[in-house]
Amino acid sequence: MSNQRQGLLTLNAGSSSIKFAVFTVPELKQLLIGQIDSIGSIAAFKAKSSDALINEKYEWSQQDAPQNHADALKWLIEWLNLRMANLKICAVGHRVVHGGQFYSEPVLINDDVLHQLESLLALAPLHEPHNVAGIKAARESFGEIAQVACFDTAFHRDQPFINDTFAIPRHFYEEGVRRYGFHGLSYEYISKNLPELFPEHAKGRVIILHLGNGASMCAIKDGRAVSSTMGFSALDGLAMGTRCGNIDPGVLLYLMEFKGMKAKEISDLLYKESGLKGLSGISNDMRTLEGSDQPEAKEAIDYFVSRVKREIGSLAMALGGLDAMVFTGGIGENSVNVRKAVLEGCEWLGVEIDEANNASGQTVISSEFSSVLCLRIPTNEEGMIAAHTLALSNLSIPTMSS
Ligand code: AMP
Repeated sequence: MSNQRQGLLTLNAGSSSIKFAVFTVPELKQLLIGQIDSIGSIAAFKAKSSDALINEKYEWSQQDAPQNHADALKWLIEWLNLRMANLKICAVGHRVVHGGQFYSEPVLINDDVLHQLESLLALAPLHEPHNVAGIKAARESFGEIAQVACFDTAFHRDQPFINDTFAIPRHFYEEGVRRYGFHGLSYEYISKNLPELFPEHAKGRVIILHLGNGASMCAIKDGRAVSSTMGFSALDGLAMGTRCGNIDPGVLLYLMEFKGMKAKEISDLLYKESGLKGLSGISNDMRTLEGSDQPEAKEAIDYFVSRVKREIGSLAMALGGLDAMVFTGGIGENSVNVRKAVLEGCEWLGVEIDEANNASGQTVISSEFSSVLCLRIPTNEEGMIAAHTLALSNLSIPTMSS
């Protein structure tokens, strides 16, 4: 056991899943990525190592399946000990959806931090409880090693007041009813990597489009967030796989007053039954919709694209112009058609697409004549969590910069 290497684990606990990745310390080379899905019913596990030596899938039977995050994590740790016996996990980084007003940076988790996170459950009731459950389970399983919380909201905490508030009585803002914005780890990853790739543009006015099953966009100036399409919750802004995006609040009043719908029913409607799924009546999955010849599938995609285009206009105004756009997330990285439809709607901004580069998934997808540089950059939220965790957990001897 003396030749054990140090490793770092990242965890992203969702409502019924745990996504994980393992990195070397201090190089932060990704060794393995995987997930446990359908926790609470017939759970399934998959993991793949970067060297392709591990490529495992496993489905539990109903009676053996882990029933909660703690059980699933215990199983995962045993699996890691078995499959990666020469690796000792020395720190764990957690993706945490909401850091409220308190956290504008990642934080080393202690009892006080955990209590504070528990006080934020109401701000993200569908996600935060699972993040907290993941932290508790990891503390129980790993004991004393450093654990770090990395927040999806933290990147946006710099936003100016007018982009951070709603026009409702001011005391609500003080109480924490704010435009928090999400997908911050993805935005942070892209904006930290942009200076190396395109230093001049990185200093300028940039819109990052994180288009995945969850989708949002963020306006960034000189690497700092100015405004986001997501607001108080992860519902606002773009239409998503199953989430509605921007909606007139009058619709919610109507549903409550005249359709007698309760909060839980409205929550399920807006989070789980709307967006691409609700509009198409077919699927929440962009690939499925792109492969469908049903008119409703096309209408759902058209709606998605049209909201992206409107938000580009809005965010370009918030920035006072536009120097670059970056597509990322499952749809942004992979859908040639969505990128093309969006960019062809931006010609009035001086955007000119390079069709061949877009079709072959190059990094630069705008032509040399485009006044806005358009890019396709795969995001790496796990890598960002790993970097923060390393930095905060005192494992970085030698440090990254030395
Ligand atoms: P994410 O939540 O970032 O994993 O993104 C998931 C979304 O990306 C789903 O709607 C997928 O259908 C979509 N996606 C993944 N690959 C492709 C592809 N090749 N073409 C179109 N959409 C894709």
